[in-house]
Amino acid sequence: MISSRATRVKPSPTLQMNAKAQEMKAEGIDVISFGVGEPDFDTPDNIKEAAIKALKEGKTKYTPVGGIPELKDAIVEKLERDNGLKYKREEIIVSCGAKHTLYNIAQALLDPGDEVIIPAPYWVSYPAQVLLNDGVPVFVETSEKDDFRLNPDMLEEKITDKTKAIIINSPSNPTGQIYDKGSLEAIADIALKHNLYIISDEIYEKLIYDNNTHISIASLSEDIKSKTIVVNGLSKSHAMTGWRIGYAAGPSEIISAMTKIQSQSTSNPTSIAQWAAIEALKGPQDALEEMLREFDRRRRFLVEELNRLKGFRCTMPKGAFYVFANVSGLKGTTSGSRRINSSSDLAMYLLEEAHVALVPGEAFGAEGYIRLSYATSMERLHEGIRRIGQAIEKLQ
Ligand SMILES: *Cc1c(COP(=O)(O)O)cnc(C)c1O
Repeated sequence: MISSRATRVKPSPTLQMNAKAQEMKAEGIDVISFGVGEPDFDTPDNIKEAAIKALKEGKTKYTPVGGIPELKDAIVEKLERDNGLKYKREEIIVSCGAKHTLYNIAQALLDPGDEVIIPAPYWVSYPAQVLLNDGVPVFVETSEKDDFRLNPDMLEEKITDKTKAIIINSPSNPTGQIYDKGSLEAIADIALKHNLYIISDEIYEKLIYDNNTHISIASLSEDIKSKTIVVNGLSKSHAMTGWRIGYAAGPSEIISAMTKIQSQSTSNPTSIAQWAAIEALKGPQDALEEMLREFDRRRRFLVEELNRLKGFRCTMPKGAFYVFANVSGLKGTTSGSRRINSSSDLAMYLLEEAHVALVPGEAFGAEGYIRLSYATSMERLHEGIRRIGQAIEKLQ
């Protein structure tokens, strides 16, 4: 029998959709995917070269569990340069992707029954990781009119003597919204008042548009820094999803607990990927700027086009590469014998009718929305929008 732990997490609500999309592709149907969660750009050449060099130099053995000192130092430099944060080497751990970093945090922080506050809509792995580590996810709804930022009063209402931590994710997957300084300060005050940890997932830090700036909550004061674990990685900023490099910066006792756990589970992240990560952090950033310009162009196009569609409403996301569209206006519409009762129904309808795959809001704890990723070419976006438009016209 499998463990109760394993049965605690449900298969992703998008699995059925994915399976269906795969089936259709296998039948030779051209499915356009708005579902992707990774940049469609290649890893920049200078980063690949650094990996090849490491490989040729024989840097192919175990490394220190929490990462090579050279990479930790590059991360320390990055955090000071970009975020105004001063850390020491022993306050850094490198793991097999930011997802693994977050998992290590849950392992290091949670005792059975500990509650973790997760603003909804949320990234799907947050509640699953809390559950897998015997914790209790506690959701706090956020609303479109607040740009999906955590409302301080609503946050405070959910705090109990079991609350251990709050997760924030700015820029956000799935909403693309970001926290401004004022809202971060309000959250920091509450965390300090109740002695809670903040887990700050900043993986989309570099994907930010217009004149918006990313602020790390840890940079607000020394007090909040001592309660924050900053999570970041190279998957999104440097198109390195397959390399599996993520990292955390935080109080040394938490980092050493995470390192101990990592030493008994995965050991070090891949040696050559670590050397490549140094180049990603310290080398030229032109590829990132180019990627950002292209994402920005697509973002504007997609929002404008979606807002023209009947029943769709979406605000301009400020970061990441997702548009989170409100489709509650289509609830109750029909096409033939088919009735759209939920965002999952809509997603399934668009897949079958328009051969377009996207993720229903239910997956992120936000019924009435759909998430579209624009990490796909402009050409595909054009075609996808055309198809969605046609299918929506058929709904009455
Ligand atoms: C992609 C993503 C991550 C983790 O990415 P890794 O590839 O594991 O580094 C973490 N948080 C959010 C919100 C993401 O979208």
